[in-house]
Order: sequence, then structure tokens, then C-alpha cells
Amino acid sequence: MSVTHAPETADVLLRQDPELAEILLGELDRQSTTLQLIAAENFCSPAVLAALGSPLANKYAEGYPGARHHGGCEIVDVAERTAVERAKALFGAEHANVQPHSGSSAVLAAYAALLRPGDTVLALGLPYGGHLTHGSPANFSGRWFDFVGYGVDAETGLIDHEQVRTLARTHRPKAIVCGSIAYPRHIDHAFFREVADEVGAYLIADAAHPIGLVAGGAAPSPVPYADVVCATTHKVLRGPRGGMILCGADLAERVDRAVFPFTQGGAQMHTIAAKAVAFGEAATPAFAAYAHQVVANARVLAAGLAAQGFVVTTGGTDTHLVTADPAPLGVDGRTARGRLAAAGIVLDCCALPHADLRGLRLGTAAVTTQGMGEAEMARIAVLLAGVLKGEAESQKTREEVRELVGGFPPYPG
Ligand SMILES: *Cc1c(COP(=O)(O)O)cnc(C)c1O
Repeated sequence: MSVTHAPETADVLLRQDPELAEILLGELDRQSTTLQLIAAENFCSPAVLAALGSPLANKYAEGYPGARHHGGCEIVDVAERTAVERAKALFGAEHANVQPHSGSSAVLAAYAALLRPGDTVLALGLPYGGHLTHGSPANFSGRWFDFVGYGVDAETGLIDHEQVRTLARTHRPKAIVCGSIAYPRHIDHAFFREVADEVGAYLIADAAHPIGLVAGGAAPSPVPYADVVCATTHKVLRGPRGGMILCGADLAERVDRAVFPFTQGGAQMHTIAAKAVAFGEAATPAFAAYAHQVVANARVLAAGLAAQGFVVTTGGTDTHLVTADPAPLGVDGRTARGRLAAAGIVLDCCALPHADLRGLRLGTAAVTTQGMGEAEMARIAVLLAGVLKGEAESQKTREEVRELVGGFPPYPG
């Protein structure tokens, strides 16, 4: 097995630094022999890995193509222009900034472009699936801005639109954020646009999770509605770890200056090249088929979990994401995550709208990249329930998981 799909690279590392080579190969083995159900993860392609492992990693490039603070940028300028043009075409956006180092950096830059410290921002509350950058007191967002949180209906798990409207009218926020780390349904961007217009707020869509589904035509796009769209490139979109921002031409300069020089230094050109590769992949019919399969798989997984007794939030999903309460199986989310990990099933805990204890958050982006389909999803639901009901020993399930994933290697060869 090779670490980067460039066997010669792996050999170099093995010879020079066996200690580190061992660690990298150990992680490849972990990813290849356990079940990856973390909703934010995926397997990027060998071509994306090749760009990440390229000498573009050596290049310093502060600024933007044609206006850099360093010499020798003529080649990487082409890489960044290519990434920008591909992102604009893929999402139908007037402007794209592909430099944010992460999803959080993209959100920080969006706030920096539109807000001043102390401004009021309305976003989904953290207990309902808001991200840390949506007002957590432990994050810059909660310290520098005055966040007001909207919620979801405790019964249905759906965003409480009436509450959003009421809070917007009461607090007159400078910006409204829509987007979540755990919301399994499509977001009604037209609704948020209408409320933002009514109270004179900017609309920021934090589409870190669904942006890959948007690329594949399997989820509605926030681009026509939001003033600024923040996203990651490594979740369903299946690119390198990183962020990006999409916006209209009117905000392009403010957004660019908010990324560099306000919140970041030199752009990571190897990552930007890898983003370009991923945008190229995401523009293909094969990726559209992938995105639709991701959703079909999540629906089967949600139905399978419900049939096993889990309480599935909102009763199902429109996306790659499923959140479920395992309480009826006699276990809380945190305990369940530990037991499942011991059985080789890797997933996250999350807050649940109707429960005090945490539930489980699962996603189908990675397993679908591996080639798994609806039959495998149904089997996974049974495996999960078996472990949590105590019907199956974790060691036995561990073997079944190994056999299942063995048929779908993420990096064949
Ligand atoms: C994943 C995510 C982020 C942050 O992305 P990082 O790359 O981990 O910083 C921000 N917002 C939302 C809604 C996310 O899901």
C-alpha cells in the first residue's frame, strides 16, 4: 500500500523516516479497515492527493494573481485563476475566493468583510446544530459579535421559521447566518433572503456541509440568495481540506481584502491547486451521480435506523446527514459512539433538538465514495443496532465491518 498513491514518495518516506511512514500507513490502514461515517469526512481522489503532495507546497504567494508580494508567482497565479474560474462556473457565482485555509477561516473572513465587532448576528443556536463560528463563547465569533440564536421545533426538528422572523424583527441583526453542522434537511434560502431584506441584514450562507451536494445538483444552491456563501472543500465536495467564499461582484473586493491581508497571510498554493482539481472532478456527470447516490444512501440509512428503533431527527433526511437518538436502544449518544468505535464504526455525537443527552450524527459521503450503495446502508443500520442492543459482540462486528469495507477499498491497490 502506498501513502500518497505515488509509490516512490512512500518509499522515500519509508527509507528516510520509517517512524513517520509507519504512522501514515497506520492511518491509511485505519481508514481502509473501519467504517467512516463521520458526516464531515470523505476520501479525496488520488489526483487531489497528488496536487497536495506537489512542490507547489514550497511557494510563497501573498496577495492575489497578478498582484503578489512575492516573485516567481507566474505559475501558481495560473493555478489560482484556474481554481477561481472553475469554482465560479461550478456554482454560478460572480466571484470566488479560494484562499481560506478552512471553513472557519472562510466564516471569519465573511464576518470581517460585512461586520464590525459588537454587531448583532442571528444564527442557528449551537444546541440546534450551529457551528462554533456561529456564536460559541469559546470562539472569536461569540467574543467579538453579539449572537442571537434561533432554534428548531422540538417535535419536528425543523427550523422554526416563525421564530427566525420574530427574532430578526426584534433584534435587527446586521447579518443572518443560515447553515448548520447537523441539519439534515434542505435550507429554505428564499425564506432567509426575505427576512434579511425585511430587516436590512446581510444573508450569509454557511454551506460547509451541503456545498458538494449543490455542486452535484442534489441540493438547492444558496448562491442566488445569499450575499456571501462560505464553504469547505473537504466535506461532500471531496476536495482538499480547506475553505472558499462565493459572492457577488459588488462584495468581491471586500471579501478578498477580508481574506488577505485581514485574516490570512500567504495562500497555500498546493491546496489551491488541489481545490482546482476537485472543482474539475465535481463538474463531471460522474460527480452528479455520486451526489445523488450520497442522498439516496442517507435516506436508506435513516430508514434502517428508524426501523431498528432509533429516533431519527425530522424523520429522515434530504442530504448526506442523518442525526438519530439511540435512547430507545437503551444507550445515550456518547456511550454509543464509544461502543461503535470499538466495533470499527466511526461516527460523531451531536446535540439533539428533543433530548438532553447527545445523539449520533452520521454521513454517507465517504462510504458512497467507496462505492457502497443502498444494500450496504441497510446492512450498516443493522450492524449499528446490533452493537448498541448488545446482540452482537463488538469483536464479531469488528470482523464483519472489516469484511464489508474490504470489498470497497477507498484507495484500491
Ligand atoms: C465544517 C464546518 C465549518 C468549519 O470548517 P473547518 O474547515 O473545520 O474550519 C464551518 N461551518 C459549518 C457549518 C461547518 O459544517
